[in-house]
Amino acid sequence: MQRYFIDPAHFKETEVLISGDDAHHLSRVMRAEPGDEVIVSNGLDREALVRIRTLDKEGVTAEIVELLPMLSEPAVDVWIAQSLPKGDKMETVIQKGTEIGAERFIPFISERTVVQLDAKKEGKRLERWNKIAKEAAEQAHRNRVPEVESVHSWKELLNRAAKADAAWICYEKAGAQELRKAIRQALKDSPAVRSKLLLVVGPEGGFSEREVEAAEAAGCVTVGLGKRILRTETAAMVGLTCILYEAGEMGGED
Ligand code: SAH
Repeated sequence: MQRYFIDPAHFKETEVLISGDDAHHLSRVMRAEPGDEVIVSNGLDREALVRIRTLDKEGVTAEIVELLPMLSEPAVDVWIAQSLPKGDKMETVIQKGTEIGAERFIPFISERTVVQLDAKKEGKRLERWNKIAKEAAEQAHRNRVPEVESVHSWKELLNRAAKADAAWICYEKAGAQELRKAIRQALKDSPAVRSKLLLVVGPEGGFSEREVEAAEAAGCVTVGLGKRILRTETAAMVGLTCILYEAGEMGGED
């Protein structure tokens, strides 16, 4: 069934309003009619099966048939901190990471980031990234839309790391601890539901040794992702999947 995330202010006690692009999609692309049912979520804490009442220029109104349990969110919040990659790879990280189950994305700049930032285009790009997250979340039947934060400086990122329940910096050089051990340790130390787990991934050129040292000083544990060197966008997905697997979020039993 078609699913839409709507503005929380439009999710009322007994009815909802679907507006903007989603209303257009529903009426023009899906050719929905009064009486049809879809699922809407406020992206936070309420999701419902709704029946369409009216479709017009203002949007689509629908009555709530039934509130639905929200079951598709992982019990741990994985934050992907991704050093800005080249081209449209950040979009890939956001789209695939949303499908897999990341809670938020924090793009950042590090020493070897090659992408030039254009302050004027920044707002538009962030809007586009958040739209990609929303569409991927709808497609993946998630209850929430992961947030894509604005681009952080390396210093700002290290401040965030200090606030997470556990933070890991992915480093391909010898000496990095096995990710599995690090995840198991963190889940043991911080078993609370919704622990904040931060995974820091470097750019195409990797991290400098100095950066890894600074990250460790800020509370990050250095981890490896196996013996092969992964592309930056692959590393983020592999790390995310391993964390959710160890947290028991990929299905199956112990
Ligand atoms: N330029 C480096 C590789 C960088 S890979 C080189 O050629 O040696 C890009 C990023 O992906 C790295 O900064 C790291 O965060 C992550 N990464 C890739 N493979 C990894 C591995 N085996 N272990 C840990 N991190 C890895």
